[in-house]
Amino acid sequence: MGNKKVTAIVLAAGKGNRMNTSVAKQFLMLGGKPVVYYALKAMEDSSVDEIILVTGRDQKDYCRDHIVKPYHMNKVTQIIEGGKERYDSVYRGLLSICETDYVLIHDGARPFITKEQIENIIHGVIEYNACILGVPVKETIKMVASNGYITSTPDRNKLWAAQTPQAFAYEAIKKAYTIFWQESDNTKAAITDDAMVYEAYLGNSVKVIAGDYSNIKITTPEDLVAAEVLLNTITF
Ligand code: C5P
Repeated sequence: MGNKKVTAIVLAAGKGNRMNTSVAKQFLMLGGKPVVYYALKAMEDSSVDEIILVTGRDQKDYCRDHIVKPYHMNKVTQIIEGGKERYDSVYRGLLSICETDYVLIHDGARPFITKEQIENIIHGVIEYNACILGVPVKETIKMVASNGYITSTPDRNKLWAAQTPQAFAYEAIKKAYTIFWQESDNTKAAITDDAMVYEAYLGNSVKVIAGDYSNIKITTPEDLVAAEVLLNTITF
């Protein structure tokens, strides 16, 4: 993007236990291709300069031989091993980058990210330094105690579901993750996205850019059924 370098970290490590399959969700077949292929392809076709693919130790060869090479994903400069939790994989991805201006962190389990949304998030990060894709929630969300009773109902008009890519100035997010890294495992466990790390450890604001409801994360078996339908309706 102009004279600024943009690097995408595509996350495809982890086992995805909520899927109940022996194959991790990011490698399940969707339209005859592994789920993670679609996010990589969208990044490859966008103005992103470089892609770091983070995956499991046992999936590195598979990714290289069955996705990156045959589909000519020339922007993938490294395929590295992820960690136990998502934030471990993100941190490893961040540390593997030599130099860049901006970084986009994307779940490989979100196959329906489009080139247009990627360009929106790149323009966003150049303007705001930190931004994520998100959509207004459709359902009423309840805070529920461990005994199953509702404790409160946040105002739905203020609730957005966070998606990826989440994009940041590189040095800032690396600094935030480095501070976060010193935390105990209990504190770390409460972190579920990158914006939380940025907000909590740098105290800076993150802008939300309206995304699309089709940018789903394949998490449970129903999502894969929905994904097969979406695949036939979306033009990438
Ligand atoms: O498990 P979850 O739905 O949070 O996973 C979101 C994304 O993070 C997926 O694309 C998954 O491959 C990735 N991930 C990872 N390393 C982990 C856990 C998840 O790269 N240890």
